[in-house]
Amino acid sequence: MTPATTPGNYSNRHLRWLLALPKLGIILLIAALLSLLWLLHLNEIEEERSALIKDVLWLEQNLRFHLVGVEEQMQQLAVDLGIQQEMQRSFRLRAGHLLKNTPEITQIVWFDAAQRIIDALPGDLPPDHETESFGPSNTNRTFELARKMGKTVYSEPFFVTGRGAVVELAVPIFHDRRFSGMLVAVLPLDSLLGNQVPWWFTEKYQVVITDDNDTLYASKTHIAGQSGQVYQVPLDPPGYGLLLRITSYRSGSNPLQILLTIAIVLLAAGVFWSLWIVRDLMKKRSQAEEALRAEHAFRTAMEDSLTVGMRARDLKGKVIYVNPAFCKMTGFSSEELVGSTPPMPYWIPAQIDEAFAMHQAVLAGQAPVDGFEMTFRRKNDERFEALVYEAKLIDGNGQHTGWMASVLDITERRRTEELARQQQEQLQFTSRLVTMGEMASTLAHELNQPLAAIASYNSGCLNLLERPGCQPQDIRPALEKLGVQAQRAGKIIRRVHAFVRKSEPKRAPCLLAEVIEDCVGFVEAEARKRQIHLDCQIPAVPAVPADRLMLEQVLLNLIRNGMEAMAETPGEHRQLVIRLQRDDSELRISVADQGSGIAPEIRDKLFTAFFTTKPEGMGVGLSICRSIIEFHRGRLWAENNDTSPSGSGTIFLFTLPLEESS
Ligand code: ADP
Repeated sequence: MTPATTPGNYSNRHLRWLLALPKLGIILLIAALLSLLWLLHLNEIEEERSALIKDVLWLEQNLRFHLVGVEEQMQQLAVDLGIQQEMQRSFRLRAGHLLKNTPEITQIVWFDAAQRIIDALPGDLPPDHETESFGPSNTNRTFELARKMGKTVYSEPFFVTGRGAVVELAVPIFHDRRFSGMLVAVLPLDSLLGNQVPWWFTEKYQVVITDDNDTLYASKTHIAGQSGQVYQVPLDPPGYGLLLRITSYRSGSNPLQILLTIAIVLLAAGVFWSLWIVRDLMKKRSQAEEALRAEHAFRTAMEDSLTVGMRARDLKGKVIYVNPAFCKMTGFSSEELVGSTPPMPYWIPAQIDEAFAMHQAVLAGQAPVDGFEMTFRRKNDERFEALVYEAKLIDGNGQHTGWMASVLDITERRRTEELARQQQEQLQFTSRLVTMGEMASTLAHELNQPLAAIASYNSGCLNLLERPGCQPQDIRPALEKLGVQAQRAGKIIRRVHAFVRKSEPKRAPCLLAEVIEDCVGFVEAEARKRQIHLDCQIPAVPAVPADRLMLEQVLLNLIRNGMEAMAETPGEHRQLVIRLQRDDSELRISVADQGSGIAPEIRDKLFTAFFTTKPEGMGVGLSICRSIIEFHRGRLWAENNDTSPSGSGTIFLFTLPLEESS
């Protein structure tokens, strides 16, 4: 089978595409949103960096200004100390003032030219002043450098226990242009940062003084966490490769951004989920549509293949639907019929009043339940007989929305029925001829009797006449008997004539006792020949409206069949019982024999035309009998003669209604 591109397949592919597009769109949208977030993040980093650089430069400048200020104050003090000799008291005052205003200076030491301490404030020399780091080499070098250069010099940073890394600021004192001593300010770097780096700065950054070897000299921060960007600038003064390194701290990710990202992801998930559901729904819907389409196709195929015409009308009588069979029946197209109102195009113009009355009856819900017959016209003006069944049209909500009619074209059926009726009539006639033929010999025999009697009465009369003294009254009884016999013979002839004559059924009040008597009269001779005893049980019953000849035909056929069935029956059981009974509103006539009986396998075929088991039989007798009885609104059937003394036999029964029902 080649993969068919049915509408169903096509719509599935179409559906997949339709669903793929929004998915693709959403993926692209999410990618765009995430890229935007990423760009924002990069931008933020960039901004953070520029802010960091700005802040670092600001801090470095701040520190430089401050140290320059310190230098200036120290230089001023040095100048003053150079001018006023023996100004120890003044040193203490001025240095104390300086220490108070510049808290990052922890000590100011006053040396003489030979590098001996003249005074120091605070007075105690730091315990580690003699340590290696603050040893003579370090101090000497700074001292020597400041003396030689004759200007302010910073020492290299060095570590002092309890104070951390410190730098010294050596300011030479000149008296009359002569080197007369040295002022040294001790600046712990921690305290420099502690006093000069504002609190808000440390909320954002970690400030570190370090060098190229990453030796940590001082640090200040108030925050902890993941470090971010780093920026460093040389810290000069004091120089010596010291670096001011500032590290920004990530204050954790931006919650708004995280929230946004989560929202985007959740939204995307939601959209995907809803798309999935929509896909599922659409799939189910397309399956349902497919099923509906198949159902519709099936129904249409069913409607199209219906041979019964279907016509739906709304409550006002307007045609709202006709099926192809109805169109075919009437010759009008569905376009011509749908929407039409009375008078309908298929009504016969001459019968419009009757059609309209029936139309009104249908709309009023008074149409006969078992259908009604109407004559319709085709588009080519041909007439046809239609059998119409009307039913309420109920919609899916249980609402009565109109009337649905099924219309059967019964023209052909009527024609066939008429033909069958004519054939049946012909058959009846043929059957009568056959019966007559069969009876011919019996009748000859039957006529023999009155004729022999007439002949013997006649010769008796003649003998009497030849006798001397014969009186006319002597021959009168014989002549009377002769007349009776002649009448009897005439009656027999008339009966045969009437029987054979083809005539329309004529119903007249008919006494069944007489019918049975006549029939028995017909068959008596044959019964005698066959040594069959005919037993008639005939009470007085009312007359029934019937065609006497037809009933005679039925009875004769049943009696003859019964007699023929007893051909093999032992002599003592050869009895045929004809019984007439009244049963409420009907008469029941039965003909019971003690013959061969009916085999179960042929019981169903008994009344079928041309069914016979007899070599000479025609097989039409019972079929005609049933038609005749049904014509008289009675029933004919056969039963087993269970009570028969011979143990077998059949009873044929038929009923006739006493009153004509219609
Ligand atoms: P035919 O007598 O020409 O055969 P019928 O229609 O009268 O046609 O009978 C049909 C068949 O029914 C007979 O051939 C016979 O087999 C069966 N039949 C009719 N009457 C009896 C009966 N009384 N007993 C047994 N069989 C019967």
